[in-house]
Amino acid sequence: MKITAIELLRLRVPFSAGTDTREHPAIARADDRFNAASPRHSAMESLIVQVHTDCGLTGWGEAFGHGSNPVTFAALQQVIAPMFIGLDLADREAALEAARKAVHGFGSTGPMVYGLSGIDIALWDLAAQAAGQPLWQFLGGELRELELYASLVSYGNDPAAVGYHVGRARQAGFTKVKLHETQYPAVLAARQALPASEGQLMVDVNCPWGESEACQVARDWRELGLAWLEEPVWPPDDAHALARVRRQGTRLSAGENAAGVEGIQALLDHQAVDVIQPSVAKVGGITAMLEVFKRAQRTGTNVVPHCFYFGPGLLAVAHLCTLLPADVPVEVPFIEFEALLYPELAFTPRLRLPERPGLGFAPDAQVLQRYRIDHARVG
Ligand SMILES: [Mg+2]
Repeated sequence: MKITAIELLRLRVPFSAGTDTREHPAIARADDRFNAASPRHSAMESLIVQVHTDCGLTGWGEAFGHGSNPVTFAALQQVIAPMFIGLDLADREAALEAARKAVHGFGSTGPMVYGLSGIDIALWDLAAQAAGQPLWQFLGGELRELELYASLVSYGNDPAAVGYHVGRARQAGFTKVKLHETQYPAVLAARQALPASEGQLMVDVNCPWGESEACQVARDWRELGLAWLEEPVWPPDDAHALARVRRQGTRLSAGENAAGVEGIQALLDHQAVDVIQPSVAKVGGITAMLEVFKRAQRTGTNVVPHCFYFGPGLLAVAHLCTLLPADVPVEVPFIEFEALLYPELAFTPRLRLPERPGLGFAPDAQVLQRYRIDHARVG
Protein backbone atom coordinates (compact mmCIF):
# COMPACT_ATOMS: atom_id res chain seq x y z
CA MET A 1 0.00 0.00 0.00
CA LYS A 2 1.56 3.26 -1.15
CA ILE A 3 0.85 6.82 -0.05
CA THR A 4 -0.34 8.84 -3.03
CA ALA A 5 -1.31 12.19 -1.51
CA ILE A 6 -1.60 14.02 1.79
CA GLU A 7 -4.29 16.61 2.39
CA LEU A 8 -4.06 19.23 5.09
CA LEU A 9 -7.18 20.87 6.47
CA ARG A 10 -7.57 23.59 9.01
CA LEU A 11 -11.00 23.51 10.64
CA ARG A 12 -12.44 26.25 12.78
CA VAL A 13 -15.66 25.35 14.58
CA PRO A 14 -17.51 27.95 16.70
CA PHE A 15 -18.49 26.91 20.19
CA SER A 16 -20.32 28.13 23.24
CA ALA A 17 -18.86 27.81 26.73
CA GLY A 18 -22.12 28.81 28.38
CA THR A 19 -20.98 32.43 28.76
CA ASP A 20 -20.54 35.05 26.10
CA THR A 21 -16.96 35.91 27.03
CA ARG A 22 -16.76 38.41 24.19
CA GLU A 23 -18.93 40.65 26.33
CA HIS A 24 -16.29 40.47 29.07
CA PRO A 25 -12.96 40.95 27.30
CA ALA A 26 -11.39 42.16 30.57
CA ILE A 27 -11.32 38.62 31.94
CA ALA A 28 -8.93 37.45 29.22
CA ARG A 29 -5.26 37.56 30.21
CA ALA A 30 -3.08 39.79 28.09
CA ASP A 31 -0.65 36.94 27.40
CA ASP A 32 -3.07 34.14 26.54
CA ARG A 33 -3.71 34.70 22.84
CA PHE A 34 -2.25 31.28 22.09
CA ASN A 35 -3.91 29.48 25.00
CA ALA A 36 -6.85 27.48 23.63
CA ALA A 37 -8.64 27.58 27.01
CA SER A 38 -8.58 31.39 27.18
CA PRO A 39 -11.94 33.13 27.56
CA ARG A 40 -11.10 35.23 24.49
CA HIS A 41 -11.92 32.38 22.08
CA SER A 42 -15.30 31.53 20.59
CA ALA A 43 -14.12 28.94 18.05
CA MET A 44 -11.70 26.03 18.21
CA GLU A 45 -9.33 24.86 15.51
CA SER A 46 -8.12 21.46 14.42
CA LEU A 47 -5.29 20.88 11.92
CA ILE A 48 -6.21 17.61 10.25
CA VAL A 49 -3.90 15.42 8.18
CA GLN A 50 -5.57 13.11 5.68
CA VAL A 51 -3.30 10.49 4.10
CA HIS A 52 -4.51 8.89 0.84
CA THR A 53 -3.27 5.54 -0.47
CA ASP A 54 -3.33 3.68 -3.77
CA CYS A 55 -5.70 1.06 -2.35
CA GLY A 56 -8.37 3.57 -1.38
CA LEU A 57 -7.79 3.55 2.39
CA THR A 58 -7.51 6.94 4.07
CA GLY A 59 -5.69 7.63 7.33
CA TRP A 60 -6.47 10.56 9.61
CA GLY A 61 -4.14 12.43 11.92
CA GLU A 62 -3.98 15.72 13.78
CA ALA A 63 -1.09 18.09 14.34
CA PHE A 64 -0.88 20.71 17.08
CA GLY A 65 -2.47 23.16 17.16
CA HIS A 66 -4.67 26.16 17.87
CA GLY A 67 -2.86 29.50 17.38
CA SER A 68 0.23 27.83 15.91
CA ASN A 69 -1.72 26.10 13.15
CA PRO A 70 -0.64 28.41 10.29
CA VAL A 71 3.00 27.60 11.08
CA THR A 72 2.44 23.84 11.48
CA PHE A 73 0.39 23.88 8.27
CA ALA A 74 3.33 25.43 6.39
CA ALA A 75 5.79 22.96 7.95
CA LEU A 76 3.61 20.08 6.83
CA GLN A 77 2.93 21.43 3.36
CA GLN A 78 6.46 22.49 2.50
CA VAL A 79 8.72 20.12 4.43
CA ILE A 80 7.10 17.16 6.19
CA ALA A 81 4.32 15.84 3.94
CA PRO A 82 6.47 15.62 0.76
CA MET A 83 8.80 13.18 2.59
CA PHE A 84 5.99 10.62 2.77
CA ILE A 85 4.60 10.71 -0.76
CA GLY A 86 5.26 7.35 -2.46
CA LEU A 87 6.03 5.63 0.86
CA ASP A 88 5.05 1.99 1.20
CA LEU A 89 3.08 1.70 4.44
CA ALA A 90 5.18 -1.35 5.41
CA ASP A 91 8.18 0.99 5.68
CA ARG A 92 6.43 3.55 7.87
CA GLU A 93 8.53 3.07 11.01
CA ALA A 94 11.81 3.58 9.18
CA ALA A 95 10.36 6.54 7.25
CA LEU A 96 9.17 8.26 10.43
CA GLU A 97 12.54 7.70 12.09
CA ALA A 98 14.35 9.07 9.02
CA ALA A 99 12.08 12.13 8.95
CA ARG A 100 12.66 12.78 12.67
CA LYS A 101 16.41 12.66 12.09
CA ALA A 102 16.20 14.84 8.98
CA VAL A 103 14.51 17.73 10.81
CA HIS A 104 16.06 17.28 14.26
CA GLY A 105 18.02 20.51 13.88
CA PHE A 106 14.78 22.51 13.98
CA GLY A 107 14.08 21.51 17.55
CA SER A 108 12.80 18.70 19.74
CA THR A 109 9.40 20.32 19.83
CA GLY A 110 7.58 22.91 17.70
CA PRO A 111 5.88 22.86 14.30
CA MET A 112 8.14 20.25 12.68
CA VAL A 113 7.52 17.78 15.50
CA TYR A 114 3.81 18.69 15.57
CA GLY A 115 3.62 18.00 11.82
CA LEU A 116 5.37 14.66 12.22
CA SER A 117 2.96 13.83 15.04
CA GLY A 118 0.02 14.31 12.67
CA ILE A 119 1.58 12.07 10.01
CA ASP A 120 2.45 9.44 12.65
CA ILE A 121 -1.17 9.26 13.86
CA ALA A 122 -2.49 8.93 10.31
CA LEU A 123 -0.01 6.14 9.51
CA TRP A 124 -1.04 4.22 12.65
CA ASP A 125 -4.67 4.65 11.59
CA LEU A 126 -3.81 3.22 8.18
CA ALA A 127 -1.76 0.34 9.63
CA ALA A 128 -4.66 -0.66 11.90
CA GLN A 129 -7.08 -0.44 8.98
CA ALA A 130 -4.76 -2.58 6.84
CA ALA A 131 -4.70 -5.15 9.66
CA GLY A 132 -8.51 -5.02 9.83
CA GLN A 133 -8.43 -4.06 13.50
CA PRO A 134 -9.67 -1.12 15.53
CA LEU A 135 -6.68 0.93 16.66
CA TRP A 136 -7.15 0.01 20.33
CA GLN A 137 -6.87 -3.67 19.41
CA PHE A 138 -3.95 -3.10 17.05
CA LEU A 139 -2.15 -1.35 19.93
CA GLY A 140 -2.89 -4.25 22.30
CA GLY A 141 -5.46 -2.39 24.39
CA GLU A 142 -8.65 -3.66 25.93
CA LEU A 143 -12.05 -2.55 24.71
CA ARG A 144 -13.82 -0.81 27.53
CA GLU A 145 -16.01 2.15 28.11
CA LEU A 146 -13.77 5.16 28.65
CA GLU A 147 -14.41 7.84 31.22
CA LEU A 148 -14.10 11.43 29.98
CA TYR A 149 -13.19 14.39 32.14
CA ALA A 150 -14.57 17.86 31.53
CA SER A 151 -11.86 20.40 30.77
CA LEU A 152 -13.47 23.79 31.29
CA VAL A 153 -12.31 26.90 29.48
CA SER A 154 -11.23 29.78 31.70
CA TYR A 155 -13.97 31.90 33.22
CA GLY A 156 -11.52 34.64 34.14
CA ASN A 157 -11.21 33.71 37.85
CA ASP A 158 -14.82 34.75 38.47
CA PRO A 159 -15.79 32.50 41.44
CA ALA A 160 -19.54 32.68 40.74
CA ALA A 161 -19.08 31.76 37.08
CA VAL A 162 -16.61 28.98 37.89
CA GLY A 163 -18.92 27.47 40.51
CA TYR A 164 -21.85 27.68 38.10
CA HIS A 165 -20.03 25.98 35.23
CA VAL A 166 -18.62 23.23 37.46
CA GLY A 167 -22.23 22.64 38.48
CA ARG A 168 -23.19 22.42 34.80
CA ALA A 169 -20.47 19.83 34.23
CA ARG A 170 -21.74 17.82 37.20
CA GLN A 171 -25.28 18.01 35.86
CA ALA A 172 -24.00 16.64 32.58
CA GLY A 173 -22.68 13.66 34.56
CA PHE A 174 -18.98 14.48 34.83
CA THR A 175 -17.31 13.63 38.16
CA LYS A 176 -13.82 14.68 37.09
CA VAL A 177 -13.48 18.35 36.19
CA LYS A 178 -10.50 20.52 35.28
CA LEU A 179 -10.37 24.30 35.57
CA HIS A 180 -8.22 26.82 33.77
CA GLU A 181 -8.13 29.38 36.60
CA THR A 182 -5.25 30.77 38.67
CA GLN A 183 -6.77 32.37 41.78
CA TYR A 184 -7.75 30.72 45.04
CA PRO A 185 -11.34 32.10 45.30
CA ALA A 186 -12.21 30.67 41.88
CA VAL A 187 -10.70 27.27 42.70
CA LEU A 188 -12.41 27.25 46.09
CA ALA A 189 -15.77 27.93 44.41
CA ALA A 190 -15.15 24.94 42.16
CA ARG A 191 -14.21 22.76 45.14
CA GLN A 192 -17.43 23.76 46.87
CA ALA A 193 -19.39 22.89 43.73
CA LEU A 194 -17.55 19.55 43.50
CA PRO A 195 -16.57 18.35 46.98
CA ALA A 196 -13.68 15.90 47.20
CA SER A 197 -16.07 13.16 48.34
CA GLU A 198 -18.02 13.50 45.09
CA GLY A 199 -15.41 13.95 42.41
CA GLN A 200 -11.96 14.95 41.31
CA LEU A 201 -10.93 18.53 40.70
CA MET A 202 -7.88 19.47 38.65
CA VAL A 203 -6.52 22.97 37.98
CA ASP A 204 -4.47 23.91 34.94
CA VAL A 205 -2.78 27.27 35.46
CA ASN A 206 -0.70 27.30 32.24
CA CYS A 207 2.77 28.15 33.58
CA PRO A 208 2.27 31.54 35.28
CA TRP A 209 4.66 31.50 38.24
CA GLY A 210 8.28 31.44 39.25
CA GLU A 211 9.36 28.71 41.63
CA SER A 212 8.84 30.51 44.94
CA GLU A 213 5.37 31.78 44.02
CA ALA A 214 4.41 28.32 42.75
CA CYS A 215 5.66 26.80 46.03
CA GLN A 216 3.49 29.24 47.97
CA VAL A 217 0.42 28.36 45.87
CA ALA A 218 1.11 24.64 46.25
CA ARG A 219 1.14 25.12 50.05
CA ASP A 220 -1.94 27.39 50.10
CA TRP A 221 -3.96 25.04 47.88
CA ARG A 222 -3.01 21.83 49.72
CA GLU A 223 -6.30 21.87 51.66
CA LEU A 224 -8.27 21.83 48.38
CA GLY A 225 -7.24 18.22 47.76
CA LEU A 226 -6.68 18.66 44.03
CA ALA A 227 -6.15 15.58 41.88
CA TRP A 228 -3.43 17.70 40.32
CA LEU A 229 -2.16 21.25 39.80
CA GLU A 230 -1.07 21.48 36.17
CA GLU A 231 1.97 23.39 34.92
CA PRO A 232 2.44 25.83 37.84
CA VAL A 233 5.94 26.90 36.82
CA TRP A 234 7.45 29.09 34.15
CA PRO A 235 9.18 27.85 32.07
CA PRO A 236 7.12 24.66 31.86
CA ASP A 237 10.09 22.34 31.41
CA ASP A 238 11.98 23.49 34.52
CA ALA A 239 12.06 20.02 36.05
CA HIS A 240 14.16 21.13 39.04
CA ALA A 241 11.66 23.81 40.01
CA LEU A 242 8.68 21.50 39.48
CA ALA A 243 10.27 18.87 41.71
CA ARG A 244 10.69 21.43 44.50
CA VAL A 245 7.11 22.70 44.10
CA ARG A 246 5.87 19.13 44.20
CA ARG A 247 7.42 18.69 47.65
CA GLN A 248 4.98 21.31 49.04
CA GLY A 249 2.23 18.70 49.18
CA THR A 250 -0.03 19.44 46.21
CA ARG A 251 -0.02 16.84 43.44
CA LEU A 252 1.50 18.17 40.22
CA SER A 253 1.13 17.41 36.52
CA ALA A 254 2.98 18.56 33.40
CA GLY A 255 4.27 17.18 30.13
CA GLU A 256 2.22 18.66 27.28
CA ASN A 257 4.99 21.20 26.66
CA ALA A 258 7.90 18.81 27.11
CA ALA A 259 10.35 18.61 24.22
CA GLY A 260 9.51 15.17 22.89
CA VAL A 261 10.06 11.89 24.69
CA GLU A 262 13.40 13.02 26.13
CA GLY A 263 11.76 16.10 27.59
CA ILE A 264 9.23 13.83 29.28
CA GLN A 265 12.10 11.66 30.49
CA ALA A 266 13.69 14.68 32.19
CA LEU A 267 10.47 15.29 34.14
CA LEU A 268 10.39 11.62 35.16
CA ASP A 269 14.08 11.59 36.12
CA HIS A 270 13.57 14.56 38.44
CA GLN A 271 10.41 13.10 39.95
CA ALA A 272 8.90 16.43 39.00
CA VAL A 273 5.27 15.31 38.61
CA ASP A 274 2.67 12.94 40.02
CA VAL A 275 0.94 12.79 36.64
CA ILE A 276 2.72 12.97 33.28
CA GLN A 277 0.68 14.44 30.42
CA PRO A 278 2.08 13.70 26.95
CA SER A 279 0.13 15.27 24.10
CA VAL A 280 -0.27 13.00 21.07
CA ALA A 281 -0.36 15.79 18.45
CA LYS A 282 2.73 17.49 19.92
CA VAL A 283 5.10 14.88 21.33
CA GLY A 284 5.53 12.76 18.19
CA GLY A 285 2.26 10.95 17.63
CA ILE A 286 1.26 7.47 18.75
CA THR A 287 4.82 6.12 18.41
CA ALA A 288 6.09 8.64 20.96
CA MET A 289 3.09 8.14 23.24
CA LEU A 290 3.81 4.38 23.43
CA GLU A 291 7.41 5.14 24.37
CA VAL A 292 6.24 7.57 27.06
CA PHE A 293 3.86 4.93 28.47
CA LYS A 294 6.79 2.51 28.75
CA ARG A 295 9.07 5.01 30.45
CA ALA A 296 6.39 6.24 32.86
CA GLN A 297 5.69 2.67 33.88
CA ARG A 298 9.37 2.19 34.71
CA THR A 299 9.23 5.06 37.22
CA GLY A 300 5.72 4.27 38.46
CA THR A 301 4.38 7.63 37.25
CA ASN A 302 0.70 7.98 36.33
CA VAL A 303 -0.06 8.95 32.73
CA VAL A 304 -3.10 11.04 31.87
CA PRO A 305 -2.68 12.32 28.29
CA HIS A 306 -3.22 15.98 27.47
CA CYS A 307 -6.10 16.22 25.01
CA PHE A 308 -7.59 19.63 24.34
CA TYR A 309 -8.67 18.35 20.91
CA PHE A 310 -11.88 17.44 19.09
CA GLY A 311 -10.45 15.84 15.94
CA PRO A 312 -8.33 12.76 15.17
CA GLY A 313 -6.05 13.71 18.09
CA LEU A 314 -8.91 13.10 20.51
CA LEU A 315 -9.69 9.73 18.90
CA ALA A 316 -6.02 8.70 19.02
CA VAL A 317 -5.87 9.54 22.74
CA ALA A 318 -9.07 7.60 23.42
CA HIS A 319 -7.62 4.50 21.73
CA LEU A 320 -4.32 4.93 23.60
CA CYS A 321 -6.13 5.17 26.92
CA THR A 322 -7.24 1.55 26.52
CA LEU A 323 -3.59 0.70 27.32
CA LEU A 324 -3.74 2.62 30.62
CA PRO A 325 -5.44 1.74 33.93
CA ALA A 326 -9.25 1.85 33.84
CA ASP A 327 -9.49 4.96 36.03
CA VAL A 328 -7.48 7.11 33.61
CA PRO A 329 -9.94 9.55 32.04
CA VAL A 330 -9.80 11.14 28.59
CA GLU A 331 -9.71 14.95 28.56
CA VAL A 332 -12.40 16.66 26.50
CA PRO A 333 -13.11 20.39 26.24
CA PHE A 334 -16.37 21.19 28.07
CA ILE A 335 -17.90 23.34 25.34
CA GLU A 336 -20.80 22.99 22.95
CA PHE A 337 -19.67 22.96 19.35
CA GLU A 338 -21.89 24.45 16.66
CA ALA A 339 -21.49 21.14 14.80
CA LEU A 340 -19.86 17.84 15.70
CA LEU A 341 -16.94 16.68 13.58
CA TYR A 342 -17.78 13.10 14.54
CA PRO A 343 -21.56 12.69 14.79
CA GLU A 344 -21.02 9.46 16.79
CA LEU A 345 -18.76 11.10 19.35
CA ALA A 346 -20.85 13.01 21.82
CA PHE A 347 -18.99 14.85 24.57
CA THR A 348 -20.72 12.88 27.32
CA PRO A 349 -18.97 11.41 30.38
CA ARG A 350 -18.63 7.93 28.87
CA LEU A 351 -17.27 6.95 25.49
CA ARG A 352 -17.38 3.57 23.82
CA LEU A 353 -14.83 3.19 21.06
CA PRO A 354 -15.97 1.76 17.76
CA GLU A 355 -15.06 -1.74 16.68
CA ARG A 356 -14.43 -0.63 13.11
CA PRO A 357 -10.83 -0.76 11.83
CA GLY A 358 -8.45 2.13 12.56
CA LEU A 359 -9.58 5.23 14.45
CA GLY A 360 -13.10 4.06 13.69
CA PHE A 361 -15.15 7.24 13.54
CA ALA A 362 -15.36 9.06 10.20
CA PRO A 363 -15.47 12.86 10.12
CA ASP A 364 -18.68 14.42 8.85
CA ALA A 365 -17.95 15.51 5.27
CA GLN A 366 -20.30 18.49 5.52
CA VAL A 367 -18.59 19.72 8.70
CA LEU A 368 -15.19 19.37 7.04
CA GLN A 369 -16.45 21.41 4.10
CA ARG A 370 -18.37 24.06 5.99
CA TYR A 371 -15.78 24.94 8.65
CA ARG A 372 -12.63 24.60 6.56
CA ILE A 373 -10.47 27.73 6.67
CA ASP A 374 -7.41 26.43 4.86
CA HIS A 375 -6.63 23.45 2.66
CA ALA A 376 -3.67 22.06 0.73
CA ARG A 377 -2.93 18.87 -1.14
CA VAL A 378 0.57 17.45 -1.40
CA GLY A 379 1.26 14.76 -4.01
MG1 LIG B 1 -2.66 22.05 30.14
